[in-house]
Amino acid sequence: MNKVYKAFPGGKHKVLTLSYDDGKEEDRRLVKILNKYGIKATFNLNSDLADTKGRIPMSEWKELYAGHEVAAHTCNHPTIARCPGSEIAGQILNDRIELEKVMGYPVRGLAFPNGSYDDRCCNIASDLGIEYARLVGDKYAAVHAAKKYAKYAEGPILVGDENGFDMPSDYMRWLFTCHHNHNLIQFGKDFMSLKKCQYLYMMSVWGHSFEFEKDNTWYLIEEFCEMISGQDDIWYATNIEIVDNEKVFSNLKFAADNSFVYNPSAASAWLVVNDNNIVEVKGGETVQL
Ligand SMILES: [Zn+2]
Repeated sequence: MNKVYKAFPGGKHKVLTLSYDDGKEEDRRLVKILNKYGIKATFNLNSDLADTKGRIPMSEWKELYAGHEVAAHTCNHPTIARCPGSEIAGQILNDRIELEKVMGYPVRGLAFPNGSYDDRCCNIASDLGIEYARLVGDKYAAVHAAKKYAKYAEGPILVGDENGFDMPSDYMRWLFTCHHNHNLIQFGKDFMSLKKCQYLYMMSVWGHSFEFEKDNTWYLIEEFCEMISGQDDIWYATNIEIVDNEKVFSNLKFAADNSFVYNPSAASAWLVVNDNNIVEVKGGETVQL
């Protein structure tokens, strides 16, 4: 029987994605750096705050964020786990509506403002067409907290793969690898050194572009992008492109004996068959494996 693995476009097994919140003016400089190196990001925007001081006006969004993803961050940034259900729904749905008017595509991602969420928020978001929701906090912080409090714990504290590069198990509670102030360069070096093709690996970085200005750390993101760009085994993707790739794979219809596969989606699916055979299954096609 064929051994079939899910892969990223081109048969790659590593993906890098970034997520930046609030749509402040410093996004202009960040986008310029990302574009220079071909790194992809998702920008999470608040529609009610867009034309306020220090933020990118809506009229600039389409051109500035071209090639990246625009995702929801609620209309005006409440700590939504404290809000009534109807307000949570309004904050997410109306943000989607306003963002979509400008961007012209369905907005399907969300970053929870102030890191505030609970099961109710995730369920409402999901019902409103949100396909992933990024958390505040990251695996780096979780590992450090786990180590700090380990002596008080009764058993081991599990925070996923200790390197922080495992694929998310729940995209509606998507915990990233690191904030850019949490060992970014070292994480990048570790990620680049991963060579085991039997695994899928993800490095995910989040933050706010105004932090580079406030902390005087523009050199950090420039150095990171320069170091990690142009790698043959890394797919540079927005957040939603990763979720879409997962869904194309899960929609595939495999023959019971794995000898052929049908792809009912419009986008290509990418497989690695018997360890080294990279197969593209184009939308609507049936391919022998
Ligand atoms: Zn925010």
